Amino acid sequence: MATLQVKNLTKNFGPTQVLKQINIDISDGEFLVLLGPSGCGKSTLLNIIAGLETVNEGEVRINDHVVNKVEPKDRNIAMVFQSYALYPSMTVRDNILFGLKQRKTPQEEMENSLQHFSKMLKVDHLLQRKPGQLSGGQRQRVAMGRALVRKPEVFLFDEPLSNLDAKLRVEMRHEIKKLHEQLGTTMIYVTHDQVEAMSLATRIAVMDEGIVQQIDSPEVVYDRPESVFVADFVGSPSINMIPGKLVVEGSLVAVVPDAQSSLKIPVSGYEFREAPRSGTGVLLGVRPECLMPQSSSEQTEFQLSLPVSLIELTGHEQNITFNFYGAEIVSRLPRGNQLKVGDVVPLNIDLGGVSIFDSTSRKRI
Ligand code: ADP
Ligand code: MG
Repeated sequence: MATLQVKNLTKNFGPTQVLKQINIDISDGEFLVLLGPSGCGKSTLLNIIAGLETVNEGEVRINDHVVNKVEPKDRNIAMVFQSYALYPSMTVRDNILFGLKQRKTPQEEMENSLQHFSKMLKVDHLLQRKPGQLSGGQRQRVAMGRALVRKPEVFLFDEPLSNLDAKLRVEMRHEIKKLHEQLGTTMIYVTHDQVEAMSLATRIAVMDEGIVQQIDSPEVVYDRPESVFVADFVGSPSINMIPGKLVVEGSLVAVVPDAQSSLKIPVSGYEFREAPRSGTGVLLGVRPECLMPQSSSEQTEFQLSLPVSLIELTGHEQNITFNFYGAEIVSRLPRGNQLKVGDVVPLNIDLGGVSIFDSTSRKRI
């Protein structure tokens, strides 16, 4: 069981600053996901936590002890890599037990651990095979087994599922989540896949260009993104961004889209952080599920009718693209509606689900 803190951490590679003043406080038993695009510094941060990389400024604390100078092997951390990093000439059994043998763990304890975790990971029938005789998913399980038998205080995962096909990725994601629920061990998990982040994390730290942009529960990151970057990175299909200007008339606050100045999208119920000012350039973020056809019985003052330009089936849902005065706006709807390309559809925006950003600072307002 362990808590972990990263304080004012900065990392340079030569003249390039790849991590900038990172602060993260991880409670015991948390599943923290570091989410961000390729090259934003996720692996570097994970490697620093593991002790595989040094820092320029700042510190890493485990259970309130600064570990900057502690060797990786003495940090009681286990890491699972994207590449699995198994020894090709060793059997599954020897791969899993490698760390324990090095620590001169008693034979009986090793056997018990091997039995327990190889069963849990469903590789108990593969113990005599070599990694080359395993599928990608099986190799991944062996790599996890090797980490698990060490009973570390913290697990670090660096994109462990990115080499697996889509179906297996979902299965393994499910297994990792169950594992976390069973073990309750603190986990830090790196991914560029927002669905993985949403489904696994107790909290997500969204990173971009070496900066933590937002750190919060998956729900808050999705519903109340702090910036255009976070809003856009999380969610599929992507959030719709409607550029426009704020209009404040008495108690009415509305967004007038740049593309259609006769339209006023009322946002009076939105929780502005500061009093809204007329003329402010904004981006109105509307999640696809917040844009839906108006039912015939509904009477709203806000009228928006748009033509359907594309319909994509995703399974139990459809992504419907509408032509929004020359731009595209996407709605996610349950299947079974009768919409066809070319239909002009009266639409509602669920204003409880919108986010408004300043178009210059690109921050939530
Ligand atoms: P991520 O894991 O988010 O894809 P990385 O942490 O691997 O990103 O890399 C962050 C940045 O640091 C990238 O621009 C990468 O090219 C650079 N970088 C990573 N490792 C090194 C290194 N050993 N030497 C120089 N630059 C590096
Ligand atoms: Mg990486």
